[in-house]
Amino acid sequence: MAAADTPVLILNAPLVANRLGYPDLSGLDLLEAFAFVHPARFCVPTARGLAEALGMEPPEGDSDVPEFLQRAAGALCAACEEPEWFERAGAWSALQSLERLRWPWAQVLRPHIARPERAEKWLFSALPEWEEAAERAPPRQVDLPAEAVLARLDHLTGEGAERREGQRAYAQDAARIFAPRTKREVPHVALAQAGTGIGKTLGYLAPASAWAEASGGTVWVSTYTKNLQRQLRSESRRAWPLKRPDGSPPVVVRKGRENYLCLLNLEDALQGGFAGRPAILAQLVARWAAFTRDGDMIGGDLPGWLGTLFRRRGIAALTDQRGECVYAGCPHYRKCFIERVGRESANADLVIANHALVMINAARGRDHAQRPTRIVFDEGHHVFEAADSTFAATLSGQEAIELRRWIIGPEKKARGRRRGLSARLADVASYDEAGGEAIDAASEAGKLLPSDGWLQRLVEGEPWGPLEKLLFAVRSITYARDESGGQEAGYGIETEASGLPGEVIEAAGAAAEALAAIRVPLIRLGGRLEAIIADPPDWLDGQGRARIEGARHSLSWRVELLAAWEALLDRLGGPADPEFVDWLAVDRNDAREFDVAIHRRWLDPMKPFARVVLEPAHGVMLTSATLTDRIGSATGDSRGAEWDSAIARSGAAHVDCAPMLTSASSPFDYASRAEVLIITDIRKGDLPALAGAYARIIEASEGGVLGLFTAIRRMRAVHGRIADRLARAGLPLYAQHVDPIDTGTLVDIFRDDPRASLLGTDALRDGVDVPGRSLRCVALESVPWPRPDILHKARRAAAAEAGGSGSQYDDRIIRAKLAQGFGRLIRGKEDAGHFIVLSPAFPSRLLSAFPEGTAIRRVTLDQALARISAGLIGPDEPAEAGIENEEART
Ligand code: SF4
Repeated sequence: MAAADTPVLILNAPLVANRLGYPDLSGLDLLEAFAFVHPARFCVPTARGLAEALGMEPPEGDSDVPEFLQRAAGALCAACEEPEWFERAGAWSALQSLERLRWPWAQVLRPHIARPERAEKWLFSALPEWEEAAERAPPRQVDLPAEAVLARLDHLTGEGAERREGQRAYAQDAARIFAPRTKREVPHVALAQAGTGIGKTLGYLAPASAWAEASGGTVWVSTYTKNLQRQLRSESRRAWPLKRPDGSPPVVVRKGRENYLCLLNLEDALQGGFAGRPAILAQLVARWAAFTRDGDMIGGDLPGWLGTLFRRRGIAALTDQRGECVYAGCPHYRKCFIERVGRESANADLVIANHALVMINAARGRDHAQRPTRIVFDEGHHVFEAADSTFAATLSGQEAIELRRWIIGPEKKARGRRRGLSARLADVASYDEAGGEAIDAASEAGKLLPSDGWLQRLVEGEPWGPLEKLLFAVRSITYARDESGGQEAGYGIETEASGLPGEVIEAAGAAAEALAAIRVPLIRLGGRLEAIIADPPDWLDGQGRARIEGARHSLSWRVELLAAWEALLDRLGGPADPEFVDWLAVDRNDAREFDVAIHRRWLDPMKPFARVVLEPAHGVMLTSATLTDRIGSATGDSRGAEWDSAIARSGAAHVDCAPMLTSASSPFDYASRAEVLIITDIRKGDLPALAGAYARIIEASEGGVLGLFTAIRRMRAVHGRIADRLARAGLPLYAQHVDPIDTGTLVDIFRDDPRASLLGTDALRDGVDVPGRSLRCVALESVPWPRPDILHKARRAAAAEAGGSGSQYDDRIIRAKLAQGFGRLIRGKEDAGHFIVLSPAFPSRLLSAFPEGTAIRRVTLDQALARISAGLIGPDEPAEAGIENEEART
C-alpha cells in the first residue's frame, strides 16, 4: 500500500515485487537511475553491488539498506554534477525525452543535470563509422619452434611467475595444431584434457598469438559459456594491445547477430515504435549505445538486469532477431555494430566466439576467406551438443511462421518496420521482370505457411492451409500416443516418427508440396540476384550491391532450410534413415502449449561437423577439464579407454585422422580441499525432506551453496518452501526460473555475496566459475540420470550396437555431469568445500567421476551437517570403508 501511494526508493523492483507476490510494484528504482547515469558500467544489482559500483561503503546488514538506498540516490545525483562525469554526453537531451515519458527519475535528476552550452549531437550522428579495410592475405605457412612458444608463454605469464611444467607441456602440445597441413581436407586435430588450474587459457593463447604474429592469420577460440568469453577477453590483453597502431582491434569478441543492437530498430523504438515503459527502456538503451564497447546487448556491457526491469521482450525487439536487416539500404549501415564487428573480426588476430557461431560461420559464412581455419574449442566437451543443435532440422509452427513473416512481412497492423521480400527488394522487382515474378510467386506460396493464431486454431481443430493441417495431425497423434499417464502434465511430450497413420503421411505430403512451391521461386530469385551482381545495372552502387549480396545470402540459407524440411517430411512415411533420429513433439511449459514440431537430429552430429568444420580447417583443438571419461578401475576397461568417447565426440574419425592426445592433471590437492558426501536418509520423492535438507545445508554452511536440480518443478518447490526461512536468517536464496533475473546476473550476485546461495538447473552445472569463499558447497538433488527421451534412447541403442552397452553409455554421461558439477567447487588453490548428493541411490561404479584421492563418505544428513558446520574436509578420519553396498538404480 505504501508503494502504491507514493513512489518509494526501490532496488530491483521486479525482484522485490516477486518476493512480495505483488505484481505491479513500481517506484524509483535505483537500478534505472544507475543505467541512466552510468550506462555500460558493470553493477551487481544488489545493495552491496551498487555500493561497490559507486565506490561507497556497503550497508552492513539488511536493516541498513533503506538508509543506504537514500545515500546511493544522493550519490547518483551528485555524480551528474561532477565536472568530469564521464557519461555526460547526451544525458540532458535524453532526460528531456524521459521527462515526456514520465519516467519517475526525470524530475529527481533534472536539477542536477546542466543544460549543455552547445546542442548535443544525436546518437546516430555521434557514433563513429567503421572503416572498410583491405582484404587480408591468406596466412603464411609457418613452423613454430618450441622455444618460441615457451618464450611467448613466459612473456604472457609475466616476469617471476611460478613456472608450471604442466602448462609448458600443454602449450607445446597446443602449438602442434598450427603446423602446416600435410594432406588436403585432413586438419591437425588435438584433444587436450586440461585439469582445472593448469593455466590452459594462456597455455593455448601462447602458441596462438605466436602463430598469428608469424603467419598474419586469424585464430578462433570458441567457448560454450559467455563467462569464459569474458575471461578470455581479459586474458588476451596480455598477448595483444587493445588497439593496433592503425586503430583496429587485434582481438574481437564475435557473437551471433541476434546479440547486437540494431540501430534501425532503436531509432524506430525511439520514434514511437515503443510506448509506455518499453519507450523508457529504449531511451536507456540509447544512453548505453553511446558508450558501449561493441553494441553487444546479451552478455556484453549492457547490464543483464536492464531488460528484466522492464519485464517485456524489449531487448530482443531491439536486436536483429529475424534477419530483417536491410544492409546497405539502412541509413545506419556505416555505423552498424554488427557490420563493424564482422569487418573487425576479418582482420583480427584472435576472434573469440561460441561453438554454435563457429559452426554456422564454417557452414554458411558470407565470405569464404573469413571462415575459421585454426580453431581452439575451449569447453570442448560441449562441442558435441553444439553440433547436435546446429545441424538439427526442426519444422515447427514457430519456425514456419517466422519464415512466413520473412517472406510476406507483417500482416494486420503489426508495429515496427518489418518488411516482406517484395518491399525489401522493390528495386530489383521493378528492374528485373523475372526477379519480380519470382518474388510474387514466393509471396503467394508463402501464404500456405501458418499465420497468426495458428496454435489456437490447432487446439480448436480448425487448421488453415497445408502446414497447419500437418501440425494439427502431428499434435493429435502425439497426444494420442502419450504414455506419460498424465505425469508429464504441463511439460513437453513426444512420440517416435514411425508407424504413423495415413492422415499424418498424407498431410506431410501436402505440406512438402507447399514447401517446394515456396522454395522453387526463391531459388529463381537467388539466380536473378546473382545475375544482377554479375552484370550490374548503372543504378547499382556499392551500397546497393552489398544489400543484394546480403539478400542473396539470407535467401540461400532459407532455401537450405526449406530443402531440409522437405527431406524431413519425405521420410515420414518411408523406412527410417539410420543416420537420423526423427520424432514429433508438443512443446509445453507450465501447462501452456507453445509449439508443435517435427524434429530431426543426426544420430552422430559429428559427421556433419567433420565435413563442415574439420575438413576445411588446418588445425583444430578441443580442450576441457572434463574431456576424457574417468572410467575408473571398477569397470575393468583397459587403459586408454578413457579417451574413447572424447575421440568419438570430436569427429576426428570422420576425417580419417588420428588425433593427438594430451593430458595435464590438475595441480590442486583435492584430497585435502574437497570431499563428497552422499546423503543416505533422504528418500527419493520426499519433497518436504528434500527442501528441509537444502535449508539445513545452507544454514550449516552459512550460505555459499550452489544447489543443482534436474527438474525445474522440484527446484521451484524447494525454493518456495525454504526461501523465506533463510531470508529471515540473513541467508539470501536466489533461483533460476523463480527470480526475474537473467542467469548471468544471478551468478554475479552469488559471486558477490558470500552469504548468498543459488539454486539452478543443468545450465549452471558447468557455467559457473566462482572461485573463493562464495561457493563452498555444491548440492545435487540426485544422481543426474539422463532423461530417457527418444533421442537419448536412439543413441544409447546405437552405442550398444557398436559394442558397448546401454548402461555404459548412460554411466559415461552421468560421470561427465558429476565431474562438471564437482568442477564448480575448486576453482583455485585456496578453494575448499563439500560436494553433496542428496540421494542414497548412488552406484559405486560412478564414484570414479571424482578426482583421485577425494574422500567420499556415505552419511546421514545429520552427520553431513556436522561436517559442514565444523568445516571438516578430507581424510581427517577414514572415509567409510569400501563403499560396497551398491544400491539398485531406482
Ligand atoms: S545495417 Fe541492419 S542490423 Fe545494422 S542497424 Fe541497419 S538494419 Fe540494423
